[in-house]
Amino acid sequence: MNKQTSDPAAMGGQISRRGLMLVLSSPSGAGKTTLSRRLLAEDPGLTMSISVTTRPKRPGERDGVDYIFVEPVDFDLMVNRRQLLEHAKVFDHYYGTPAEPVENALSAGRDVLFDIDWQGTQDLKEEMRDDLASVFILPPSTRELERRLKSRARDSDEEVARRMSKAADEISHWPEYDYVVVNHDVDVALDQVRAILTAERLKRARQAGLGDFVKRLRDGQ
Ligand code: 5GP
Repeated sequence: MNKQTSDPAAMGGQISRRGLMLVLSSPSGAGKTTLSRRLLAEDPGLTMSISVTTRPKRPGERDGVDYIFVEPVDFDLMVNRRQLLEHAKVFDHYYGTPAEPVENALSAGRDVLFDIDWQGTQDLKEEMRDDLASVFILPPSTRELERRLKSRARDSDEEVARRMSKAADEISHWPEYDYVVVNHDVDVALDQVRAILTAERLKRARQAGLGDFVKRLRDGQ
């Protein structure tokens, strides 16, 4: 998975480097979807990993954009054919990360954004630690989390209650992440995630082309 690009266009004329995997996790309602969308809209170097799921489509969701919606039998096939980088059961439904698009993006020198839970993050970490930067997004308070979940008006009261009771479980995994951002204000949180991405891109180990670059510098070029 430790691919690097030598395509000058993908490199933006910069030093070649390996693509990086940026994972965002949070309890639902903490603002992760908004943060992901805004980050993707402003950063052409970033590609979203679109998960497959057996959960029913919500109103407004688009197949192939928000998720790839599949039947449980097809999900099992993908697992058996080892087409998923990781997969997990979340809220009674199955979710998984298709391997091929991630591998293609990384080998083209693009960074990949993941909106996955703590189980998926742990699996990816085991497989691809060096390529992964993980961020946990916390809500500012329980009351605010509940307010955000209710204001989405897309889930039933029962579903909101279930997600609230699951939030404590999800939040307990914050120490497993590289970074933690408290989403008091989405603009501030976005700045912070952007800063993480910038710093991770600049990590020496990721800049595979540094050796050549410095050699050229020393040669007086
Ligand atoms: P939702 O049903 O609200 O879209 O997502 C529920 C949870 O599943 C979220 O915490 C989301 O991050 C997680 N999730 C979505 N896709 C994946 C995936 O491919 N793998 C794993 N492990 N979790 C996922």
